[in-house]
Amino acid sequence: MDFSISEEQASILLSVDKMISKFLPPEEVRRRDKNYEPPDFLLKYYAELGLLGIPFPEKYGGLNEKWFTVTLVNERLGYYAAIAASLYGTTIGFGGMSFLTYGTDNQKETYLPKIIDGKLRFSLALTEPSAGSDAGGLITNAKKVSNGWVVNGRKTWISCADEADYLVTPVRTDSNSSGSKGISILLIPRKSDGISMTYLEKVGNNCLTSWDIGFDDVFVSEKNILGEENDGFRNLMSTLHYSRSCQASNAIGQAQNAVDIIKKHVLERVQFGRSISKFQTVRHRIVDMQLRVDQARMILYKLAWLIDEGKRCRVEAAQAKILASECLQYVTNHGMQLMASYGYSLDSDIQRLWRDSRLYSFGEGANEIQREIIAKEIGL
Ligand SMILES: Cc1cc2nc3c(=O)[nH]c(=O)nc-3n(C[C@H](O)[C@H](O)[C@H](O)COP(=O)(O)OP(=O)(O)OC[C@H]3O[C@@H](n4cnc5c(N)ncnc54)[C@H](O)[C@@H]3O)c2cc1C
Repeated sequence: MDFSISEEQASILLSVDKMISKFLPPEEVRRRDKNYEPPDFLLKYYAELGLLGIPFPEKYGGLNEKWFTVTLVNERLGYYAAIAASLYGTTIGFGGMSFLTYGTDNQKETYLPKIIDGKLRFSLALTEPSAGSDAGGLITNAKKVSNGWVVNGRKTWISCADEADYLVTPVRTDSNSSGSKGISILLIPRKSDGISMTYLEKVGNNCLTSWDIGFDDVFVSEKNILGEENDGFRNLMSTLHYSRSCQASNAIGQAQNAVDIIKKHVLERVQFGRSISKFQTVRHRIVDMQLRVDQARMILYKLAWLIDEGKRCRVEAAQAKILASECLQYVTNHGMQLMASYGYSLDSDIQRLWRDSRLYSFGEGANEIQREIIAKEIGL
C-alpha cells in the first residue's frame, strides 16, 4: 500500500485550492450557510478542471484515474465546505459510479459524458417514512403498463432533489415480493407529472436541501430502468463502498479543518497570562483530535487502495464511515468546549461544523448498521 501523493495528484489538489479560494472562500461559505444557498455553480468548475471524470474510462471522456485521487479531491473539498464535497461525491460516487457499475452500454454512453461535463445531477430517492435503516422495507411501487411503469408512493429526506435532473428511485416492481427482493431502480425525471415536493427544515447542513417527495401516478418510460428488473437492491448495495468512501472523505476533510480552526484559537487565546494551548488538558485534547483524524484517514486511504485493486472492501467501507463520522463529532464537540463563547457564536465556523457533523453518524447507513455489517463479516 502506497499512500504517497503523486505529482499529478498534488497538481490536481492545487487546482482545487485555487478554484475554491476564488469561488467559495470562507466568508462565502458562511454567507451561503446563513442564507441556505447551495453553491451549485461549482459543478461547472469541477467539470472544467476534469475532476468529474477522474474515475471514468477515457471512452466516456474520463481520465481513468484512481479512486484514491477521487478520495483526495473529496477530502480537500470537505476541508473547505461540506457542501462542496457532497456535490462532488453525489455526482461521482453515487450518480456516475451507479451507471458505470450496472448501467447498460447505452446508458453509459448517454449519461456518463454528461455527468463528466457537469451537465447532469442525480439524487438517490431511497428512504421512505417507514423505511430508513431497513431500506428493503420500501413500499413505493411501480406497476407495469405499456412502454413503462406507473409509480405511486412517497420518499423522504431526499438531498438536493430540487436541483436533480433525475431521481434515482428504488421501487417495488414485484408486488408479491417483500424485503430486498422484487425491487428495481428507476431513473425518474424530476419534472415528471405527478411529483410533488415539500421542503424539510433541519438543524445543519443548510446548503444541502432536503425534500419529502410524493409520487402520484408518475409515468416512467421503460428505457429508464437502471440495472435489471427486480434486482435493484443488489445493484444498489454493489456501489455503497463508493458513496461511503465519499461520505468518509468529506467528514475527514471537515474534521481536519475543525482541528486547524481550534488549534489556531487556542494558540491565540490568552487566559491567566498565557496561551490556553499551554494548559495540558487543552493540548492533549487537541492531540487526541488529530490522532482520531489520522486514524480515520488511514482506513479511508486503505479503502481507496482496496477499491483501486478491485479487492473486497465491505469491512473497510463500514470502518471508514464509522471512524470518519465519529471523529468529526468528537472533534467538533470538544472544539465547542475549547472555543467556549467564541465557538458558540453564530459567526464562528466551528458551530457550523458541529451542527453539520450530527448527520454523519446516521446518514448514508447508520453507524449501528455499519457495526452490524462488520460483526457479520468477522463471523459474529
Ligand atoms: C440531512 C439528511 C440527508 C439525507 N439524504 C438522503 C438522500 O439523499 N437519499 C435518501 O434516500 N435518504 C437520505 N437521508 C435519509 C437517511 O439515509 C436516513 O435518515 C438513515 O438511513 C436512517 O434512517 P432513519 O432516519 O429512518 O432512522 P431509523 O432507521 O428509524 O433508525 C433510528 C435509530 O435506530 C437504529 N437502528 C435501526 N435499525 C437498527 C438495527 N438493525 N440495529 C441497531 N440499530 C438500529 C439506527 O441506527 C438509529 O440510531 C437523509 C437524511 C438526512 C437527515
